[in-house]
Amino acid sequence: MSLHVYNTLTRQKEEFVPLKNDKEVGMYTCGPTVYNYAHIGNIRSYVFADLLRRVLEYNGFEVKHVMNITDVGHLLSDADEGEDKMIKRAKETGQSPWEIAKQITDVFFKDFERLNLLKPKIVCRATEHIQEMIDFVKVLLEKGYAYEISDGIYFDISKLADYGKLSRINLEEQMAGARVDVNPEKRHPADFALWKRAEPNHIMQWESPWGMGYPGWHIECSAMSIKYLGQEFELHTGGIDHIPIHHENEIAQNTGYTDKEVVRYWMHGEFLQVDGGKMSKSLGNVWTISDIAQRGYNPLAYRYMCLNAHYRKTMNFTWNGLESANTALTRLWINVEKFRESTNHLANMSQLDHYQKRFEEAIDDDLNVPEALGILWEMVRNSEVVSKEGYDLILEMDRVFGLNLDQEIEKQQELSVDLMQLIEERKEARVNKDWARSDALRDELKAKGVLVKDTKEGQVWEVVTPEQ
Ligand code: AMP
Ligand code: ZN
Repeated sequence: MSLHVYNTLTRQKEEFVPLKNDKEVGMYTCGPTVYNYAHIGNIRSYVFADLLRRVLEYNGFEVKHVMNITDVGHLLSDADEGEDKMIKRAKETGQSPWEIAKQITDVFFKDFERLNLLKPKIVCRATEHIQEMIDFVKVLLEKGYAYEISDGIYFDISKLADYGKLSRINLEEQMAGARVDVNPEKRHPADFALWKRAEPNHIMQWESPWGMGYPGWHIECSAMSIKYLGQEFELHTGGIDHIPIHHENEIAQNTGYTDKEVVRYWMHGEFLQVDGGKMSKSLGNVWTISDIAQRGYNPLAYRYMCLNAHYRKTMNFTWNGLESANTALTRLWINVEKFRESTNHLANMSQLDHYQKRFEEAIDDDLNVPEALGILWEMVRNSEVVSKEGYDLILEMDRVFGLNLDQEIEKQQELSVDLMQLIEERKEARVNKDWARSDALRDELKAKGVLVKDTKEGQVWEVVTPEQ
């Protein structure tokens, strides 16, 4: 079977066929808005994009992966109304929007490293592409897809026969039911801002043919994706919340600008929930990767958790769930280590070939990574295939899982003699039921980057990166 992916536009799994040649494919991922630290829900959507890229690479494609950083901030609601998010945070913290953006972007990429997410080949900041956006808007105006009113330039959705095709919304019904304060100068309530005129006290603003102002949110992704990937490219990813407005509007802009269907496959990741509900500040459950690391978990346990949920299914995060994922990951290391140490060569490859075939079928079936992970588990539990060849296959599979198995296992093995001594002492303390000493040793080990857990089978431990 060849690679098939689910295309939101057609609501179908389709065969993935590159547009230009057999090898090179373009992929654009909507990046973070850097006014607030990314939470584990945001990160889930980047794990999905990372898995997509890895599956494409496993299939022999070279992926030109582009991701934007929204550092101009966008308006509080998707409907162009409200206060700019970056500026709101700037007021709250007393920092400049540029300082906030830099600090948050740095932590964002630190999360990428901790989760072994491949960094996109091109990371483009909105603030560095204002001219491209202005040029884009100029073309839309010239071609009659946009119009000017007192507070800026707007896209005229009535110029497109099929506006709304991605989300399949019935615009008239939606608008009739909505009680939003619509700018009365707009020709249609769903027309959206391409460029906004700035008040004099607006911090981030740029010169344009329409006076000082700043871009609407959607224009940056159209301008930058086309700049780096051309007028027709293969894949565009984001979270499902982007379907009805952001991506709908990107399609409108792209069509107006190029008269082409710019993106071939639109792919969207489902949301993450926490404790079965929405994450929210008021519930105090907006967790980050730093929270996970601070509680002593290996951030890769969160990656492991994401691998276990198909990207088109809602995933539920609980701390107990993370604990289980952490234990499962440690057990996986223990099993894989047997392969890593093995000097055995397999005379008959048929079992391994079968595992590989099933693994490839799973990932090629719209990224069925949970199934692929199940196949890895089946394989590592089969003592008949413990061998060098088996280890090679595990590393092949790990190109997709991205658990960094080889290096993580090595890290576990590199424990110094001193630390091994402490681990042994704790084992003895537990045998002697000296709980106070056992707890003190656990804390000491944790401070030194070794996480000890007590399981039914006894004490297990792993090396984690101590949180700075
Ligand atoms: P933002 O920084 O708000 O633009 O969001 C960055 C990415 O995270 C986007 O692709 C969103 O669709 C995605 N996202 C936001 N909330 C969640 C969530 N709870 N679960 C999964 N993805 C999310
Ligand atoms: Zn975008």
